[in-house]
Amino acid sequence: MNLAFTYYMPTRLIFGAGTLKELAKTPFLPGQKALIVIGAAGAMRTHGYLDRVVALLADNKVESAVFEGVLANPVEENVMHGAAAARDSGCDFVLGLGGGSSIDAAKSIAVMATNPGTYWDYMSGGTGGGKMPPNRALPLVAIPTTAGTGTEVDPWTVITKTSTNEKIGWGIPDTFPKLSIVDPELMLSVPPRMTAYTGIDAFCHAVECYLATVNQPASDSHALEAIALITRYLPVAVKDGKNMEARSKLAWASTEAGICESLSCCISHHSMEHAISAYFPETPHGAGLALLSVAYFSFLAERCPERFGAMARAMGADTAGMHQREQASAFIACLRKLLSDSGIAGEKLSDYGVTRADIPRLARNSHHAMGFLYDLTPVALSEQDTAEIFERAFA
Ligand SMILES: [Zn+2]
Repeated sequence: MNLAFTYYMPTRLIFGAGTLKELAKTPFLPGQKALIVIGAAGAMRTHGYLDRVVALLADNKVESAVFEGVLANPVEENVMHGAAAARDSGCDFVLGLGGGSSIDAAKSIAVMATNPGTYWDYMSGGTGGGKMPPNRALPLVAIPTTAGTGTEVDPWTVITKTSTNEKIGWGIPDTFPKLSIVDPELMLSVPPRMTAYTGIDAFCHAVECYLATVNQPASDSHALEAIALITRYLPVAVKDGKNMEARSKLAWASTEAGICESLSCCISHHSMEHAISAYFPETPHGAGLALLSVAYFSFLAERCPERFGAMARAMGADTAGMHQREQASAFIACLRKLLSDSGIAGEKLSDYGVTRADIPRLARNSHHAMGFLYDLTPVALSEQDTAEIFERAFA
């Protein structure tokens, strides 16, 4: 076997309970004035996180302005308005504070603050213009308050164009954060259901990156550890949100899975979910993934079982004496148990308004908008195969 890969992980990471306060003294802030990007729900204000961040930046002699109103599935308008706010307020870096949506929006705002045209001019996929931004983006800092997306250590940002129902993930070297502070104390307030959805998102990042045709040794190690940690600690954190050990382990697992997204890549499971939340934007990303996961991974396991055994073992299965196909089945059984232990096994696609009649357009959309992840999937999936997986997810 010819072992060959590239390794690029440029984000400085400060990790640990209570590390938010490092913001007051770190010498690695990339500018003098931050545009702090937060969501529309107001959680960053109610929990006091926004005030703390503003005060800590001031202690570090860094000014700030706030841009709020990013939707849970951020849209192109959020990006363009945020970019205008960054320019108008003279900010020289962007700080994403909150869940994946705020940090993703911060990345895209950092690009559009310095570049002409519309955000969609630069999207590759769907109706995107496929251009490269001519100017360097503003530098980024990320402070996640959920354990799920891994966006704090990867270049990916996912934005929706509402008028065409396209939800596209995109990234360039400039959309890696320069600095990320992962403080699990900020995650203690995440409610049980959101804890489950975000944890399953991180789990899927690890599994998909492990299966992707571009897997590599470093991402494999991180992926298997993330899978093990999430299997063990997600059910604990769902039941007891104040359990600091579980929150810390999940925060690290999510960050590790984000590193996997940088070194390897997600696969078409994410393309399929993006189609769902493009048409049904009330669907939390992790919920969409959870609802597709058994059907999707079973379809792959039947055709290409090779890499499933190690993941089953990471989840605690004893696969001694099992054939490859049995090992793959053991992984699916562990996945079902994880969904059940996380309290989300009873959900259905129809809970979010998705019907069987939507399947053809969902299958088409996932190949059109996010086709590049199909190229990295270990099994070649036609639009017909994708429709069959959607069909199975309804069964
Ligand atoms: Zn995801």
